[in-house]
Amino acid sequence: MLNQGIGSWPARRARRTPDRTAVVHEDRALTYRELHRRVLRLAHVLRALGVTSGDRIAYLGPNHPAFLETLFAAGALGAVFVPLNTRLAAPELAYNLADSGSVVLVHAPEQDGAARAAADEAGVRHRIALEGPGDGALGYEELLADGPDAPLDVAVAPEDPCMIMYTSGTTGRPKGAVLSHANIVWNSVNVLVDTDLTADEVTLVAAPLFHTAGLNMTCLPTLLKGGRVILLAAFDADRVLDLVERRRVTYMFGVPTMYDAMASRPRWAGTDLSSLRTLNCGGAPVPARTIAAYVDRGLAFSQGYGMTEASPGILFLDREQTAAKAGSAGVPHFFTDTRVVLPDGADAAPGERGEILVHGPHVMTGYWNRPEDTTAAFTDDGWLRTGDIARTDADGYAYLVDRVKDMFVSGGENVYPAEVEDALLGHPDVAECAVIGVPDSVWGEVGRAVVVLRPAARATQDDLLGHLRGRLAKYKIPRTVVLTDRLPRTAAGKIVKTAVRETFSTGHAEHPHP
Ligand code: ATP
Ligand code: MG
Repeated sequence: MLNQGIGSWPARRARRTPDRTAVVHEDRALTYRELHRRVLRLAHVLRALGVTSGDRIAYLGPNHPAFLETLFAAGALGAVFVPLNTRLAAPELAYNLADSGSVVLVHAPEQDGAARAAADEAGVRHRIALEGPGDGALGYEELLADGPDAPLDVAVAPEDPCMIMYTSGTTGRPKGAVLSHANIVWNSVNVLVDTDLTADEVTLVAAPLFHTAGLNMTCLPTLLKGGRVILLAAFDADRVLDLVERRRVTYMFGVPTMYDAMASRPRWAGTDLSSLRTLNCGGAPVPARTIAAYVDRGLAFSQGYGMTEASPGILFLDREQTAAKAGSAGVPHFFTDTRVVLPDGADAAPGERGEILVHGPHVMTGYWNRPEDTTAAFTDDGWLRTGDIARTDADGYAYLVDRVKDMFVSGGENVYPAEVEDALLGHPDVAECAVIGVPDSVWGEVGRAVVVLRPAARATQDDLLGHLRGRLAKYKIPRTVVLTDRLPRTAAGKIVKTAVRETFSTGHAEHPHP
């Protein structure tokens, strides 16, 4: 085949394992043969609409087989796939569509209104609605029904761009990381090597596909190997537990809050989890209590660490080390290298905290349309700066500390909010929390904990601070505690610290530190 990119995967799989199930969604299942045929038809349709190599094709909607079909069909033509975040409002979508210069937008019915407004504003040439046609949109299934089945083999090189994936937007406006086919393949190889993923894998995708972990850590490596992917439109703890039991799920990824929510459900203790071989958790600091809930049930709960810009896997904890090295995100993936460096660029000694740098064939070449951000993201000798702080132990296992941007300085001492949050989450009444630094005339900054209590929990602010005393050095203990009923989160379930700071930095009654 001339196509060396991931757009050729359905054809290659259909040649090797046509009758195996590729994708399951609700009550519908597609074999690799069926997936290949649908992708081929969609690719012909897109080509007839004028799409050629290098054009951008956007997708907007919750997890659905059409997401994957559009990704592969774009790849079959050498076009670049642009997954969009379903949480964005029409003007933000219009910005992303215009920024990426997308010529086609495929979208789900949930997004009909926003998609039409945004596509019109951004001058997108064609809109394809999953439940169309109508309202200026072409109908997805109608187009597929008429599409030709003739073979299609467009030359695509491994280095060609495959997708523009926007970062989660946890610390600011999302940036579009340009990932090549080779980036995606190398990340998939890393996952296959380090998780022992097999052709019998049953992978549950409950995280949004438009974020990197849902697509690149779980879905694509499974499809590369010929396993089965179960798509859940959106995360729901009870539905995940139900699917794990009913479909005998073997592999899944989630951010810590997803795993926490599952372990807090009434049906948790009664759910059969014995099919699960690999639980991959990352995307945000992983609390000790989350790890304990899964390790206590004898499950291989592996912390992973990655970022959109690295396609995304960087560190991964081997299954056999999940109990011995609990709390660690493990060692670099097989084809990945990392360094932990001090502010002057020197390598940190074991135990010393520094910024993680990463190098490997899965690291992006740059951000779309953002040359300055791209230059700032790399060191002179080509290592990607992650903006995350870690330390390693004597065996080389890494422990994530926090983001550089979330750290604050109190009385000259660095405070890493993730450490304080982890301690707070150890209190049985705490459901969720976020710690931020707020200005203080004496100490420069002091901590403020914003806490969501579990339903019917009674802990007072004094109880919570009392819980921290004796566990943490005094300068790390928040000066104030604010109770609230929810924390702002991204679509992937990460707490948006910038929004917490905006809402809770001022205007709350001081709670004196005794
Ligand atoms: P943005 O870059 O737009 O602010 P984001 O950094 O949240 O958003 P992603 O690429 O989805 O976007 O997330 C990568 C980040 O998630 C990492 O840089 C790190 O801060 C955090 N992260 C990932 N895994 C872990 C982990 N195991 N422990 C702590 N933090 C993690
Ligand atoms: Mg980031």
